[in-house]
Amino acid sequence: MTQLFPEIRAVPPGPRSRDLAARLAAVESPSVDARREARAKEVGDDHVAIVYREGEGSNLVDVDGNRFVDLAAGFGALLLGHRPRGVADAIERQQRRLWLALGDLYGSDAKVALCERLCRLYPEPGARVMLGATGADAVTAALKTATLATGRGGVVAFEGAYHGLSHGPLAACGLRPSFRQPFADQLNPNVFFAPYPFDASSLEASMAAVDRALTRRNVGAVVVEPILGRGGCVVPPREFLPALAASCRRHGALLICDEIWTGLGRSGSWLASLDCGIVPDLICLGKGLGGGFAISACLGRSDVMQAWAAHGGATIHTATHFGAPPACAAALATLEALEAGQLAQRSLSVGERWSDRLREATRGLGVAAVRGRGLMVGVALQGGTRRALGAMRSLLRRGWIVLTGGEHGDVLTLTPPLNISEALLDAFAVALAEALQSP
Ligand code: PLP
Repeated sequence: MTQLFPEIRAVPPGPRSRDLAARLAAVESPSVDARREARAKEVGDDHVAIVYREGEGSNLVDVDGNRFVDLAAGFGALLLGHRPRGVADAIERQQRRLWLALGDLYGSDAKVALCERLCRLYPEPGARVMLGATGADAVTAALKTATLATGRGGVVAFEGAYHGLSHGPLAACGLRPSFRQPFADQLNPNVFFAPYPFDASSLEASMAAVDRALTRRNVGAVVVEPILGRGGCVVPPREFLPALAASCRRHGALLICDEIWTGLGRSGSWLASLDCGIVPDLICLGKGLGGGFAISACLGRSDVMQAWAAHGGATIHTATHFGAPPACAAALATLEALEAGQLAQRSLSVGERWSDRLREATRGLGVAAVRGRGLMVGVALQGGTRRALGAMRSLLRRGWIVLTGGEHGDVLTLTPPLNISEALLDAFAVALAEALQSP
């Protein structure tokens, strides 16, 4: 696993990145360039993107030959870093045999092995799984399952939460109402938002809002992130998920835990929801599942998933590339490597040490909080979006790739590979302090 320190040859974005970024902006959806312009205006600094050339382990090299440490890691999806050997070998073996089976009609041996493995992640017997390609696919499958199983299409979701941007999950996107607003006419009108409990003092208000929404007779599901990811690495009080599960039981609604960000070790346990002592009715996995390949899964309790069989002999939820054999092989190899390396445990202990180190290094530098669990860490900055974007750019120039997140865009979100070296994490703490001191 490559774990090298940054090496900057041409201040990023260098000339090749600038050239390619301009070519991309000329042909890609204009929203990307519009965001760049908005950010440049906000920060008063250029916001041109770098363009990646290759990645290995914890490192990325851009088209100008600059070497970065990747603390964004594919929006948290690269749990094992870039191109991990075991996963690459498994994909190569699979690609020599079979690229595409026939979806729900004729599966592949790789799909069988993966589905069996995934069902074993669910702690009760008889679990079933539906594969997808993206995280949004998994959430869509869960929302549809809940509707079929309860006969009720209404949903309770949370402010600050993110579940993907295709129509089903978008309706439940509490991160920013502006994501939903242009498409409001096309979205599920029966989604009720409750405040996410940021701390113990907000738990009661949050649960009261959930209970109020659940008394509406058309609500069949509550969808929740066990820890807010894109919303800024917010860890709720430990009683939150058990309270939600109890509330769902009282009202006959299903609990969907979206573990697309938190799952598979990212937050320091295999599944953050099980760690809280509950068993959700449905669990969504994505991001890291394929080790960088596009694959996701909706796992569900036996009786709930039976609703699909009761529908009457038609496959009403499938897609051409769901469960593609190379993605299944990648996912199996990823799960094996995560288990063999005990990376969930490592994520917890290393994340705790790193968070302490970040707190120490940034004391007195306008940091409101360092929060999160495992290797999903949020550094909430005083000074709003402007300061966070400035810090992100300053770190980029120093060779560190980070993202901003949170409802107000004022959090640096850090999701490195779970096997990143502690030497790199320590060096980042120093770089962060420098970036905050002299952006
Ligand atoms: N759910 C959560 C918690 C996420 O963080 C994301 C993506 O960031 C999604 C769902 C959507 O996943 P995708 O972007 O693969 O559709």
